[in-house]
Amino acid sequence: MILKIEEIGLSLEADNELLNKLLEIGKTYYPKEFGGFLIGYYSEGNKHLHITDTILPKKFQASKYSFERSTKGIENELTGYYSEQPKKIYIGEWHTHPDNSPIPSSTDISAINAIINNQNSCITNPVLLIIGYSKTQVTFGFYVWFDKKIYRYEK
Ligand SMILES: [Zn+2]
Repeated sequence: MILKIEEIGLSLEADNELLNKLLEIGKTYYPKEFGGFLIGYYSEGNKHLHITDTILPKKFQASKYSFERSTKGIENELTGYYSEQPKKIYIGEWHTHPDNSPIPSSTDISAINAIINNQNSCITNPVLLIIGYSKTQVTFGFYVWFDKKIYRYEK
């Protein structure tokens, strides 16, 4: 799918194959949340983002309404993407909202702020993908932190 935020001129692209994979992995942890790191690359002067891969956390804590991951142990997997052409980098995170809508909770917003304020992660516009799902419905909510605000990508 391709999504946009007209107001700030950003666009985003992710293969359905990857999105379905994230959903399937996430569902295996039902009724708890689950998630991971998003890998991809920018083009068109950092205006267009391709989300291509995920890295799953080695350590995490989850409940039905929360998900906290650790970055411990993913370094090698991450640097493996640097040598790809185009070079792929950590661009954000994803997690599920079982039986819920893909709207960021206050914890989700704090987590994004923690990413921006972490000096080791040099990303200024982290992407957050929330997968809201139930037995009958699946909604992918893509967000980006831009200029001190959170924006949702739209069709
Ligand atoms: Zn959440």
